Amino acid sequence: MTKKRVLITGGAGFLGSHLCDRFIKEGYHVIAMDNLITGNLENIEHLFKLKDFEFYHHDVSKFVHVPGKLDYILHFASPASPIDYLKIPIQTLKVGSLGTHNLLGLAKNKGARMLIASTSEVYGDPLVHPQNEDYWGNVNPVGPRGCYDEAKRFQEAMTMAYHMHHGLETRIVRIFNTYGPRMRLDDGRVLPAFLSQALRGEPLSIFGDGSQTRSFCYVDDLVEGIYRLLLSDYALPVNVGNPSEITIKEFAEEICKLTGVELKVEYQPLPQDDPQKRQPDITRAKEILGWEPQVDRAEGLKRTLEYFKDKIQVPAETA
Ligand code: NAD
Repeated sequence: MTKKRVLITGGAGFLGSHLCDRFIKEGYHVIAMDNLITGNLENIEHLFKLKDFEFYHHDVSKFVHVPGKLDYILHFASPASPIDYLKIPIQTLKVGSLGTHNLLGLAKNKGARMLIASTSEVYGDPLVHPQNEDYWGNVNPVGPRGCYDEAKRFQEAMTMAYHMHHGLETRIVRIFNTYGPRMRLDDGRVLPAFLSQALRGEPLSIFGDGSQTRSFCYVDDLVEGIYRLLLSDYALPVNVGNPSEITIKEFAEEICKLTGVELKVEYQPLPQDDPQKRQPDITRAKEILGWEPQVDRAEGLKRTLEYFKDKIQVPAETA
């Protein structure tokens, strides 16, 4: 029997590379496509020797061609951290809009099922808490984060239009903050920032007063949720994230305890439109996918710390 073939865009990125691993493990033929704008071939170099893995260096905002059949497309290409999308806002808008359109066309052509990586950012700075999928969000389209949030909202609308109008099989996952090995140390997000600052013995940068909350999901849990959603028959958006919520200040304390360093903090101004509260309501994922997170923060952080220690130059006195 021929293997099922899956195209994973953004395959050299943090989440995309973990998805490549999972689909290889499940016995698929995996085609990763990436223009490496924020990704890194190191994340997938262990797969290059496999005959069931191919890599295409390509920008999906341009015409996308893949020879042969395709059963599934997972569209994960997009800058994902504020530090990236603030630097390349137009590419961010293009990959969410033109890139999504190109891939929906490819899916239609091939009769493939397409899953898109949406985000909790579609809820903006939410006025309801926790956020369930029926909440329409509170996004500032012309603020600095608009390029990302609105690209993702457009991406969802375009995907639903292909589903409703062309009967294309589509899936939408709304991903909440996810962490784990292969995150970039310098991607500007709080978890890698705190871990690398603690490992270097530097003060931890807290934006605002640290009372804002985040909920962090370990990458293996996220990948399991995505895998189940892809194989489900559910076309409306599904939140996948870990509801365990923590304030940034408490999180700083947790990181210092984990790394065995004394808590030192440097307060900085809160960036514009930074969400105050973030917590997924995962009732839908539980009901439809039978999914909930299995890895708690203590365990997930321990695994992530091991990866970061390998990547970072730790000063002798804190090593
Ligand atoms: P990442 O930056 O590590 O990976 C994104 C990948 O997409 C990179 O390898 C990059 O080079 C590639 N890419 C960007 N534009 C491209 C283009 N035009 N053509 C081809 N490749 C392109 O980010 P990530 O954290 O792995 O995020 C992956 C996806 O998940 C993104 O769509 C992001 O919006 C979504 N997401 C991530 C999180 C999270 O917590 N990491 C949360 C919500 C949503």
